[in-house]
Amino acid sequence: MARIGFISLGCPKNLVDSEVMIGLLEREGHTITPDAERAEILIINTCSFIGDARRESIDAVLAAGELKKSGGSLHRLIVTGCLPERYAREILEELPEIDAILGVNQIPLIARAVAGEPVPPPDSFGRRDAGLYLYDHTTPRTLSGPPHAAYMKVSEGCDHRCAFCVIPRIRGRFRSRSLPSLVREAEQLAARGVREITLVSQDTTAYGSDLGMKDGLARLLRKLGRVDSIGWIRFLYIHPDRVSRELIEAVQSSPKICRYIDMPLQHASGAVLRAMRRGGNRSTFTRIIERLRKGIPGVTLRTTLIVGFPGETRADFLELKDFCREMEFDRLGVFTYSDEEDTIACGLEPKISRRTAERRRRILMEQQAEISRRKNRELVGRRLEVLVEGPSEESELLLEGRLQSQAPGIDGVCLINDSEAGEVRAGQFRTLRITRALEHDLLGTVVV
Ligand code: SF4
Repeated sequence: MARIGFISLGCPKNLVDSEVMIGLLEREGHTITPDAERAEILIINTCSFIGDARRESIDAVLAAGELKKSGGSLHRLIVTGCLPERYAREILEELPEIDAILGVNQIPLIARAVAGEPVPPPDSFGRRDAGLYLYDHTTPRTLSGPPHAAYMKVSEGCDHRCAFCVIPRIRGRFRSRSLPSLVREAEQLAARGVREITLVSQDTTAYGSDLGMKDGLARLLRKLGRVDSIGWIRFLYIHPDRVSRELIEAVQSSPKICRYIDMPLQHASGAVLRAMRRGGNRSTFTRIIERLRKGIPGVTLRTTLIVGFPGETRADFLELKDFCREMEFDRLGVFTYSDEEDTIACGLEPKISRRTAERRRRILMEQQAEISRRKNRELVGRRLEVLVEGPSEESELLLEGRLQSQAPGIDGVCLINDSEAGEVRAGQFRTLRITRALEHDLLGTVVV
């Protein structure tokens, strides 16, 4: 049996794939080491979403290649995930340090790849016979994050065809896991000590649509809200087209469902959204946001945007800026557009210069910084439920926790510098009195 190192890059959906692969390997009797230098076999689960992610993946492969050459214990390098799914041929030709590759639908073959047995190449190699993979509650999975928090992938793939996005080509058509399988997995996670579950997918609001379910996400949330021992259920990546009354009511149906909506809007100008092949405009989005804020009092709204999309005029950008000022999102992420091979947007003109796109991004972020600071300051003095995460990354003298309004790995955190209510341990839900607002984070004292 081998000692295996594992590097997981990219998004939480990729992390779930990594955890499944680790689970499959441990079931075979292999051991996983956190120390790549001690590994005999190294697996890198890659991301290929945009150029930066690709570069990070390739850099990790090159570093592993050096380690392999250095004469240590590492003798086999396996690359999995989005990068080989998209560029199988190029990788095999140009990165000879790699011994085997697996695409996103070949996760069940990981033990064979580790054993050095031949595996068929991913779809991008021209195969047309590959099935689409999606794990379920019977699949072994080893959690790699803190023991009290886990992601659950509710579906895979995407049927939208946003002009800038390559995901549907990599991950395939949209398919959902069954509702009983998800409830079962949530129960299993709860039995293992998980207290917060975050639902992820490419398009979470489409959950169940391929299985003939209407308002599948709302039904799923109601079911998960009844799983004992789970304190918070959070869902990410909702599509503005599918914000229904049922979904809003489902969020309200249980205090366990986080009042947190992550809805990537990408833009607010109707012309840019049309070019992006997404639809919607400033007024339709404004109405959706008003419905969410009215239907879910105290909701935290997060969105992500792209600036510098081909053809984005100054007027389009000013409309977006105005929209963000008016909407006062609680959280905002802004990306600059970059051409992605094999996307419709790649062929669109006129391109916006990198400098202009960067400047537009900076303007939006500066505007948002003020909004965020004010919103954070308004929390000082309030008592809020916090999930304690453990020692802070900033300082060992502090603990760290998150509010319902702080999603793991995306938003700020609460730094806990005192307790008036005894010992505080990771995985507990406690009440925090907010004492200070920092740039992104909050500072507080546990009071209950
Ligand atoms: S909905 Fe999301 S994953 Fe699907 S094509 Fe659009 S941006 Fe990509």
